[in-house]
Amino acid sequence: MKIALIAHDKKKPEMVEFAIAYQHILQQHELYATGTTGLKVMEATGLKVHRFQSGPLGGDQQIGAMIANNEMDLVIFLRDPLTAQPHEPDVNALLRLSDVYRIPLATNLASAEILMHALKRGEFQWRELIHAKNRK
Ligand code: PGA
Repeated sequence: MKIALIAHDKKKPEMVEFAIAYQHILQQHELYATGTTGLKVMEATGLKVHRFQSGPLGGDQQIGAMIANNEMDLVIFLRDPLTAQPHEPDVNALLRLSDVYRIPLATNLASAEILMHALKRGEFQWRELIHAKNRK
């Protein structure tokens, strides 16, 4: 499964804690992230993360493009609802595309943890079935 990790600045410490806590699950998947989030997760965990541009410089859009190509399976986006973001349109576009393509999406830590538990139980195997079908 391809998993995207994105955290706004004030949520980066939370993302690092999350990645450490769920490293045993995350390491079994292909990880993608916006630039700074990816760097922090890699430094804290040693996990291999494919890093895109920083969010405000287009990273959200790069992840959005993967979603539009049906190449992303799950999105963890710890967004900061209390701080205005210069790239708000990109943030909205990413959330919107996740809904368009019905990609499991968590926008806060509580839901992110639920997704990790579901992932561990194999509840997203339907995504792999979709990939297998598309490859035929
Ligand atoms: P960053 O981008 O991980 O490069 O900080 C996240 C964002 O602000 O969208």
